[in-house]
Amino acid sequence: MSLPRRRRIRTFFLLLCIITFTTFLFSYTFRDPSLYFFKYAFRLSDNFFSKGLCACRQCMTELEDDAWFVERFNQSIHPLMTRENSVLSDETFKWWQWLQSEKKPANYSGVVEELFQVIPDEVRYMDTGPDRCRTCAVVGNSGNLKGSQYGGLIDSSDFIIRMNQAPTNGFEEDVGARTTHHIMYPESAIDLDNTTILVLIPFKTLDLQWMISALTTGTIKHTYLPVPARIKANKDKVLIYNPTFFKYVYESWLEGHGRYPSTGFLTLLFAIHICDEVNLFGFGADQYGNWHHYWEKNHLAGAFRFTGVHDGSYEYNVTLLLADKHKIRMFKGR
Ligand code: C5P
Repeated sequence: MSLPRRRRIRTFFLLLCIITFTTFLFSYTFRDPSLYFFKYAFRLSDNFFSKGLCACRQCMTELEDDAWFVERFNQSIHPLMTRENSVLSDETFKWWQWLQSEKKPANYSGVVEELFQVIPDEVRYMDTGPDRCRTCAVVGNSGNLKGSQYGGLIDSSDFIIRMNQAPTNGFEEDVGARTTHHIMYPESAIDLDNTTILVLIPFKTLDLQWMISALTTGTIKHTYLPVPARIKANKDKVLIYNPTFFKYVYESWLEGHGRYPSTGFLTLLFAIHICDEVNLFGFGADQYGNWHHYWEKNHLAGAFRFTGVHDGSYEYNVTLLLADKHKIRMFKGR
């Protein structure tokens, strides 16, 4: 073969390699669905290096995991209620009823049965495995989100989990615009759009009755506070936080600190159990030590810190430890 011809062939192969590599990078970066082959190949190679428990670069559980984490993490307890796992042990039921001291609870199993005639009874999200890389943004309500410009980052996650009164309108640059899951309880409930999944945290049997009522007849208007008689939500997208999981979070992760975990901490543990990668936003004080919500003008509102029922400092320390051990990534805002 003549020398120029050999050179031409070499140049051709070099160009082919460059084009393949660039296409590969492009498909991964811009997530072009028509080039899923490359994405899949990248995930496979990721998998190869990441011991293969999930398809992300780092997974929530690893083969040789951190002892502190392993001691607390119990994958066998499902975060969401189904008919099957709704039966509570006497001890769990007593603890759960004690949380908000319900005086004359209705028949729990009867209420659960009625509830699952209104909302779906499905096992959700327990599909962890080498092909799954589920990224989640847990968005707390701290004022440290104001001016953070985290919106784009939050919106790029698979699941975006918000809680209680959290608004997005007017705050998109800092908190994002998408919400896949909204965690609430009757006293903190707000209307949702048709696509958002409502996750109810029940603190008492009446909360389950409220969920039925708010989606149907609208008869329950008061718990220990006035609550919305009806809420806008897609009843086919309502999930219930499992009281057994609630107790597990309190005992295993908070070691009994505080009267019960905050919505934020319960949501964080929910995410740790259903996601492969968890990014945490809007937790903790702002740079000046204020504990207000991001939508509040009054920096001294101190909404979350001093409720008296949660041990905010203990929760925050556990959260920092999870970040130190690379189980979550914490974005501290401003
Ligand atoms: O105040 P609220 O309970 O609605 O906030 C939701 C969660 O956001 C809290 O449970 C807490 O975990 C977190 N939060 C925080 N710091 C704040 C406000 C809220 O860590 N200043």
